[in-house]
Amino acid sequence: MPLPPILLAVALASGIRDSIVIPREELLRLYTDCDETRWPYGVEEVFVPKTTEELIAGVERRRGLEAAWRSHFAARAGDSIEPTTFEAWAYPLAARGRLMDNYANPRVDGPHGALDIFVSREGARVRSPVSGVVVAAGDGWRGGYRRRGGFHYEGGGLSRRAGNGVVLFDPTSGGYFLFSHLGAGVRVQAGDVVRRGQALGRVGHTGNATFPGRGRHLHLAFKRPGTGCGIEGVLVSENPYAWVRAARQRRGG
Ligand SMILES: [Zn+2]
Repeated sequence: MPLPPILLAVALASGIRDSIVIPREELLRLYTDCDETRWPYGVEEVFVPKTTEELIAGVERRRGLEAAWRSHFAARAGDSIEPTTFEAWAYPLAARGRLMDNYANPRVDGPHGALDIFVSREGARVRSPVSGVVVAAGDGWRGGYRRRGGFHYEGGGLSRRAGNGVVLFDPTSGGYFLFSHLGAGVRVQAGDVVRRGQALGRVGHTGNATFPGRGRHLHLAFKRPGTGCGIEGVLVSENPYAWVRAARQRRGG
C-alpha cells in the first residue's frame, strides 16, 4: 500500500535532514585535512597522518554531503538569500576588534591556519560572513585552566581545542568557515541555513583559548578543497585576511 501523502512528506523531510546532518565527530574528521588530531595522554595533542584510502574516502563522502547541503541551501534560501561573493563578506564581529594578520604564524603545533580577532571585552557578537549552511556546532564546552593541573577538558563544545564553535559551509565558494572559542550560548545548530551577517554566538575563551594569555578572541579559519598531501579534493587552509579586512573597511572600521 502506498504511503498517504502526509506520511510521505514527513518521511522525505526527515530523510533530507538525516543526509545533511551527520555526527559532529564525523564531520570534524572530514573537515581536518591530512592529519587527524588525537589526545592520547589527556592534554598532549598528537597528529596522526590519515592513510591515502582514508583521505580518498573522506573526499568522496564530503562531496556527497556538499551536494546535499547545496540543494538544502537552495531549497531553504529561495529568492530571499543571495549567495555571498568574496567582495560581499560581512565582517565577522559586531565590534571592530583588533584584526591580527597572523595567518601561518609559527606555533608549537604547526603554522596557525587562521586569523585571530581580539576584542577588549568578551561577549562581542560573532556574525556569519556569508550566507550558508551550518554543518557542525557545539555548545556547552566544559573545561578550563587551573593553576595546579593546567588545562583540563570534560566534554562538550565543538572540540577540545576549538571549544564552543561553528563550522559553516559556503555554497558560493565551496569553502568552510570555522569559528572557535565562542562563549556559552551558540545560537545555531547543524542543518541551519544562515544569512550573511546573522548572529552565530559571542566571543569567549573556550577550548585552547583558555590557556593564560590566549583568551578573548575569535579564531576564524577558512578552508577550500585543493590539493593536500598529494590528494586532490582535500580541504586546504587559505588566508582570509584580505577579505576580512575589506569587509571591515566597508563597515567603516
Ligand atoms: Zn587562532
